[in-house]
Amino acid sequence: MFDSDLGANEKSMVRRRAFLVTSALALAGAILWSLRRPRLVQAEAAKGTSEEVTIVEFSDSGERLKTVHVPKVVKTEDEWRKQLSRGVFAITRQADTELAYSGQYWNLHEKGLYRCICCDNALFISDTKFDSGTGWPSFWAPIAPENVRTTRDASLGMARTAVSCTKCDAHLGHVFDDGPEPTGLRYCMNSASLKFVARQVTGIPNQ
Ligand SMILES: [Zn+2]
Repeated sequence: MFDSDLGANEKSMVRRRAFLVTSALALAGAILWSLRRPRLVQAEAAKGTSEEVTIVEFSDSGERLKTVHVPKVVKTEDEWRKQLSRGVFAITRQADTELAYSGQYWNLHEKGLYRCICCDNALFISDTKFDSGTGWPSFWAPIAPENVRTTRDASLGMARTAVSCTKCDAHLGHVFDDGPEPTGLRYCMNSASLKFVARQVTGIPNQ
């Protein structure tokens, strides 16, 4: 009888353990599900917390100035909608993508700086721009690694790496590993996320 009782206890323990494992899996599933929520919501939630970010400032002529710690630019959806056109809002704040060959910068070859359309953060410079043949402005590096952030993007059934502005979280585009030397990277950007500033003529002859 004793043996039989022990057996029952063990069975009970196993059942309990199985229940705990099942509960843990359910909890993990719930956490994963909550992580699927759009990144955009986080920016709103962060409002009022005055999060600081580190970026490198550049002059309009592309000269590196200094590394600064600045409050992150956080605005409500309404505020962004007032500031941006509908198309720019959809791309920068809702991670939409402009049609290939439709933007104003994919075929631009002028020397200059590309700033964030939302917050003026310096993002790219013409020295790293190349013709990718994709119909989107493409660069092999950001102007400073601090000025952009990358996140995993599993939308549309693809595993991609999204690129956003460090200072304001604007969605810029994606980065791929099929770019040219020296980095082998291709920052595939939306023209709509960028604001081009032509290099100023200073009177010093170009090299
Ligand atoms: Zn920005």
